[in-house]
Parts: sequence; structure tokens; C-alpha cells
Amino acid sequence: MDNKLDRWIEEKLQDSATPKKMITNPQGNGNQPNQANRQKKKKNHAQNNKRNFQGAHGGQLAQSQNKRHYSPKTSSGHFKYRKKPEQGNFKNLPQNSAVKIIPLGGLDEVGKNMMAIEYKGDIIIIDMGFQFPDEDMLGIDYIIPDISYLEKRINQIKGVIITHGHLDHVGAIPYLMPRLNYPKIYATKLTMGLIQKRIEEFGIEKETIMRVINPDEIIRIGNFTVRFFRVNHSIPDGVGIIVETPEGTIVHTGDFKFDSTPADQVQADYDKIAELGHKNKATILFSDSTNALKPGRTMSEKTIGETLDQIIGLTPGRIIIASFSSLIGRIQQILISAEKWKRKVFVSGRSLVDNMAIAEKLGYLKIKPNSIHNIAKADKVPPKDALILTTGSQGEAVSALTRISLNDHKDIKINIGDTVIISASPIVGNERAIFTVIDNLSKLGAKVIYNKIMDIHTSGHGYQEDLKMMLDFVRPKYFAPIHGQYHMRAAHADLALEMGVDKQNTFIINNGDVLEMKGGKVFKSPEKVETNYILVDGLGMGDLGSRTIFEREILSENGVLVLGIKVNKKTKQLVGPMHIEAHGFVYLEESQDVLEQLKQIAKKHFEKLIEKHPNPGIRNIKEYMIKAMDKETHKLIERRPLIIPVIMEV
Ligand SMILES: [Zn+2]
Ligand SMILES: [Zn+2]
Repeated sequence: MDNKLDRWIEEKLQDSATPKKMITNPQGNGNQPNQANRQKKKKNHAQNNKRNFQGAHGGQLAQSQNKRHYSPKTSSGHFKYRKKPEQGNFKNLPQNSAVKIIPLGGLDEVGKNMMAIEYKGDIIIIDMGFQFPDEDMLGIDYIIPDISYLEKRINQIKGVIITHGHLDHVGAIPYLMPRLNYPKIYATKLTMGLIQKRIEEFGIEKETIMRVINPDEIIRIGNFTVRFFRVNHSIPDGVGIIVETPEGTIVHTGDFKFDSTPADQVQADYDKIAELGHKNKATILFSDSTNALKPGRTMSEKTIGETLDQIIGLTPGRIIIASFSSLIGRIQQILISAEKWKRKVFVSGRSLVDNMAIAEKLGYLKIKPNSIHNIAKADKVPPKDALILTTGSQGEAVSALTRISLNDHKDIKINIGDTVIISASPIVGNERAIFTVIDNLSKLGAKVIYNKIMDIHTSGHGYQEDLKMMLDFVRPKYFAPIHGQYHMRAAHADLALEMGVDKQNTFIINNGDVLEMKGGKVFKSPEKVETNYILVDGLGMGDLGSRTIFEREILSENGVLVLGIKVNKKTKQLVGPMHIEAHGFVYLEESQDVLEQLKQIAKKHFEKLIEKHPNPGIRNIKEYMIKAMDKETHKLIERRPLIIPVIMEV
């Protein structure tokens, strides 16, 4: 049927059979010479650190059992663990004159990135991400960084600087901003556009102060001078950050790779980065460790674009491409190919539609007039003329692609002869879900092309050679790998050693550890800042038992409003009365009136939702109710508790 394409794929496969394996092996299991060693290190480390775990996913997230007992207020001490001293020196320094660097998240995990830097009473924050939970944490939607340390110092916070618009860097902004009294946010244009959208969804756009930065400007925030350098990543407009103080200079890469032919044509600021090394300026480098186990360099976006273009050109039938909604460069390449091969483009998936609109409005995506068509009409054009862009590359339960694979999508039904291209790699933990989707699509008669078959995706995070290049450019005196689980950071530390960073000067630190920088020297402080897991949003669907996942202390610390909504499994209509429970509001608990009022309001909002969107997904219900009730509680009681809708299907 499509022999040309098959033949071409086979040829390509023969070309790249060996390196492919490395590229698609997310953990690099067993491929690395030092792996066994690292695993051992990791184990020792875990024994010393109760918050570390060695789950099936290599310890990506805390085991839920442990998490259940996390409490910002706990004084029982089960989480106050003793850590063995690692690399680096301990020294008690006078705190007032040293710069303190405190990672509040993003270590021992990929997600919830956040770092605080404090100097002479002023604090700046880099990134505010959240983390999607593990599969075994049913119903917990997000994990956000613990900000107890910052909450005690609200008046000292001078600004929040964001490296780029991915959710593991911006996702917690709407949750944390109100708690920190809305410090000013600094971000590049596209990043700010994406932040703005979330801020609006939470109804806090009036309170939020946003300052769009140009990566070439130098800004003064409190006692800090801040500069930026452009980096390549899987979303446009990403920057690394240089924080200058009289005690030394901190370089934070954000997420990055080097790509001399990136999809968005914007080059990394090689000159600015190299100047740091040249002038011996960088006291300490914090660098992205996500792919520290992968040898070689990341493949260029241009190569991926060309491969996709070939596939699009050679495919005789309808094409459905699933990718990440923030991969604007990839989307641009696909739009250009679609135009070249005279295909009409249809877009399915809310986040994709939203992000494309934001990127187009801000000039990061060029869409030719009349090139995008209403998804409802996708069935009306001949298959050879249609290209459908969709979300769901991770097999997410409520995504467009998953619905398509279950033959449950309103507008798109798979026909024999359709080709589905998954232009993404599974994020660790999503493999099973994505393979189920691939199987289901195949059963319906689609040909599925994904990254294990050929290179139709490249990572946004630098491989070993990119990381070495960064180290070589910056030539830091001290080094701290960030963004990744312990074994990734350990591998990155090895690279740094190779690149000439003194072993004594490399810190493999934990969330909540404190580094102190003074007179161009960096020390690990014995101080430890609280970094418990803070869980946000939903509970197990229909499983009341999982309510206990939230310990009362967490509830009281955060202030939580739980909405119990029983719905008909098929129609999603409300069954019986709505339940409402408040925790952590002393006054509220006593005030049945307010609760009764909130209950009525919640009911009204729910009914409005069903009226506007009959049969919404569970996630949509949750999102809608959170948004609506967040506004309402603010109006009614001037508080912003975490809203937790518990949806039970009966
Ligand atoms: Zn990123
Ligand atoms: Zn990231």
C-alpha cells in the first residue's frame, strides 16, 4: 500500500540501527561503565535519606507511602534524616555576608524545579515548577515545591526569574504566587505568554506582576545583578541565568542543549557563555543533568524536521501527528511540511490549540492564513489531503490521541491506511501507557511510526557532549549538577571531573541543602531547609480510602477545601448532594453557614459546566471546579485554600 514509505523507513533503519538503541534508552540501563557503581552510590545515599527511594522507576519519585506522612509541621522527626557528608567542605560561615543557594526542588526527580538565592537579606527565586506524580500515586495531580522557608521571609523576596515555559519550571506559579504575596516575575516573552495563560486560568492576573525580559539586558534585582544567555531547548525562548554578587557569580543553565540548526533558528548565546570561562567569571555552575547518561550529542531539530518532512511526503493516506504542545519549533516544521505537501492541517487537543495561539500571537509560530481548519471537518477532506496535529504523545488518559486510539474521539476515527506519527519519546513512567495507545491504534488499522522505529524526535536536554561543551565554555570553579535523579547527577559530576572541575568542588546536593558562597568560594552549609512534598489537587477516583493520603497536618498547613462530587458514570450528571469539607480554616470549620454557601455555589458551578460541556472528562471537571471555587472562596472568605475535587463515578 505505501511501499515507498516502508522501503525508505527500512533504509533509514539500517543506517541508524545501533545508535538508535542508546537514544531511546531512557535510563541508559547497563550501558554505562560506571552504572553499577552509581547504583551502589545511589543505594547508600538512599539509606541515608528516607525521602529517597528505589522504586521501579529508579527512584524518580518518592514512594507514596512515604509521602503520605509528609507534613510541613511534623516534629516527630521521621523525615529529619541525617545525611552523610558528601563532596564539598563544611564550614560555618557568618550568614549575613555569604550568598546562600538553596535548591527547593528539581533534585532527586525530574520536575518541580525551584531554587532560592539569598544575599544580604534579599532573595531571588529561579523557576517554580511542579511535578506530575508517579503512576502509583493514583489521583494526586501535582506535587509542588515546599516553600515554608520562603513563607517565613516573604518580605525579602525580590523577584522570581523563570528560565523557560515548561511546566516543571512554571507549573507551580499559580499555586505559590498567592502564598508569597506576588513577587515580580521575570521571564522572556513566550515564557511569560504561557505563564500569563495559567495565571488567567487561576484568576490572579490582577495581582501578578510580570516583567518581560530581553535576554540581552542586565537587570538589577535587590542585591543581585542578573544576566541571561539564550539556550536551545524543546521550547523556544529558553534562557540560562547568570547571577552576579560581590561574593561570586552563579551560572544556572536552565534546561538546555546545543543545536546549531534549531527549529526556531535562534542560536544559543555561545559568545556570552564562553565569555564566562574566558574571563574566569563563573564561581559555580548549576547545569541540567537529564541526559548525562547518554553519550554523544543531541540530534539536531533540523534532522528531525527533514525526517518528518520525508514521511509526510511519502505517506499516501491521512497523517496524524502527536507531539508535545510546547514543542513550538517542531510544530512549525510540521506546518511548513504540510504546506509543501499540500495538506490541510487540523488541530486537536486544548493545550495544543492554546499554545499555538499564544506562540502565533507573540511571533514564535508562523501560521499561513487558511492553513488550519476546523477539526470537525477533518473527515470531510480526502485522506491524502489531511494532516491532523494532536496531543497525547505520552498516552495521557484524557488526551486526544488516547481517545482516538479507543475510537472515542468525536471528530477523528481511525481508518485503515491512516498513519500515526508519535513525535516524542515516552517520559520515564509513561512507557506502558503509550504502548497501549500504539497497540490500540494498530488494532484499528493505523500504521504507527514512533521514535523507536526512527528518529522523529530529539530530546531538549543535552547529551554528554553538550554537557561537556557547557562545562568547557563556562569553566566554573565549583559545579552542582541539577535537574535529574541522583544517578543522572552523579554521571554529570563524572563529566565535570573529566572536564577539569576539582572533585572537591563538585556538589551532589539534595533539595533543601544549602550552599554558601563567599569570597569566590563555595561551601556546603550544615543548614538544611525543609522540602517536604506538597500534594495538590485530586484524590483517587471513587476510592474513599485514598483520602487518607492527605495527612491532617498537611491539610491544616495548606488550608484545603475538599469537594465531594458524585456523578453518573455515563452522563456525568450530579448524583445526590454535593459534599464539602474544609480543613485548616479554624473559623470556617465552625461556620456551617459559609460551608453551606460554598456548597450551593459549587453545585451551581458544576451544573453550569455540565450545561456548557455535556459529559466532560474527570480532569476537566476537576480543573473547572478548582478554578471556579478558587475565585469564589477568595471572594467569600478572602482565602485561597487548595481546592480538591473528589469525583466519584457511580
Ligand atoms: Zn524544559
Ligand atoms: Zn525541565
